Amino acid sequence: MTKIAFLSAEFRPLAKIGGLADVALELPKALLKLGLDIRLFMPRYSHIDLGDINAEPAGVVDVLRGDQTIQAHVFSAVVGGIPVYLVDGPALQQAPEVYPGQPLEGERFVFFSIAVVNYFCQSGWVPDVMHANDWHTAAAVSYLALKQNGDDPEDAELGNTGSLLTIHNLPYMGNGSEPAVRAFQIPPVASEALPDWAREIPLPMGIAIADRVSTVSPTYALEIQTKEYGSGLDGLLSARADALSGILNGIDPSSWDPATASDLAVNFTSDSLEDRKLGKKALLEELDLDPDVSVPLLGMVTRLDTQKGVDIALDALEGMLAKQDQMQRWSFVLLGTGNHHIESRCADFAARHPDRIKAVLKYDAGLASRIYAGSDMILVPSRYEPCGLAQLIAMRYGGIPVVRKTGGLKDSVPPYSDEENGTGFLFKDFSAEALQQALYQAFEVYRDQALWKSLQLRAMSADFSWKRSAEQYRDLYLRIIESRSGN
Ligand code: ADP
Repeated sequence: MTKIAFLSAEFRPLAKIGGLADVALELPKALLKLGLDIRLFMPRYSHIDLGDINAEPAGVVDVLRGDQTIQAHVFSAVVGGIPVYLVDGPALQQAPEVYPGQPLEGERFVFFSIAVVNYFCQSGWVPDVMHANDWHTAAAVSYLALKQNGDDPEDAELGNTGSLLTIHNLPYMGNGSEPAVRAFQIPPVASEALPDWAREIPLPMGIAIADRVSTVSPTYALEIQTKEYGSGLDGLLSARADALSGILNGIDPSSWDPATASDLAVNFTSDSLEDRKLGKKALLEELDLDPDVSVPLLGMVTRLDTQKGVDIALDALEGMLAKQDQMQRWSFVLLGTGNHHIESRCADFAARHPDRIKAVLKYDAGLASRIYAGSDMILVPSRYEPCGLAQLIAMRYGGIPVVRKTGGLKDSVPPYSDEENGTGFLFKDFSAEALQQALYQAFEVYRDQALWKSLQLRAMSADFSWKRSAEQYRDLYLRIIESRSGN
């Protein structure tokens, strides 16, 4: 049975900060169903109650930090059907947050990465492929290579373990971890393509030497090889182009099912799309917006971060309002939290147009579902988007995405003009004008409700299940194993 170690800083429900937590649950679950022996390794943060998950002690491993030996305590449990190994140590107990900031983040994640690799040797369960995710676990790739190139006979059994490093969001590369990388004596990577500033930063180090590198969409895999999206690593990523690929994330169709979701006011299926309108009506009431259901409702659910293009969305909408285009009425709801400047701009915009614009500045999973299920169009105008979940959930709920043609948005939303597969509206330039054009196109199609319905039906039946992604990851693992055995 193919053995895969899946390393992640987040895992739903034990440590959920962003989308990585969902991937770390859903992807291993789908890989288990394909018959792989997959085990998840994550840090044991202090908020995780080991008793609650019936975790058992599973070993103690030594981690060297200079001339100090630090013990890592490993616990095992089964969570969500997945075998999970939690690694504890002093750097994990020093702050309750998952991401307490540097320099502690560097200390805890480098420590964790080394402990996991040492645990493989000690436990005797040595994976065929070690799959690291994002910068937090990328040091494991460098450390594994270090062990494989060393001459300690105890490390011999690591000789065949291949490595895959998945980049979920390139700009987060672990800057500030250099002191920890040095303290734990992971030597700088010697690769001509690696810029000097990146030699001791976990993600670039891992990218330089992992057997394969992947990102969460094929288009993002190409984009990060360019100056515009490469965060200074475009040269390195281009140098590794042959080892780099993209696999789109999925969503769990049963967690996102408009027929059964308990947080919706009205459930519906593709056979009862008229009921969706009742949900829209209830949403308009809940938000205190113009109650006319024939007016298109635009929705946006997002972190308020410059990545997400909220600035161009607001510019576009303000511009459309300024044109006083009475022929085209629409309403807009935004749900999001984050950057305070963006929050206050949203609040200000909503205050000036209370019957048309609503800004709900908090995290609210239930309202998010109702927005996906009640809006006609969901806006995702991101500057860059490695994969993006909003458009996938929107489509499943019959909301038509209006998205920037970038990364996973481009890969998951075929344009409406594609009569067989089209599910949404795309624009290329990162500008308010380009977004306005896409919105005007969408309004035009919306006027033809039969045509709109055909878009909705296609969107709702698109396959974004994790099974599809898991099959591609399995193929990638097998390629890594094959190339290792050919060595
Ligand atoms: P990212 O991971 O970059 O934030 P994604 O689109 O991949 O963006 O995933 C974000 C997820 O978080 C989506 O499922 C979105 O619905 C959800 N989300 C973002 N902001 C909020 C919020 N304020 N309330 C509820 N859900 C939110």
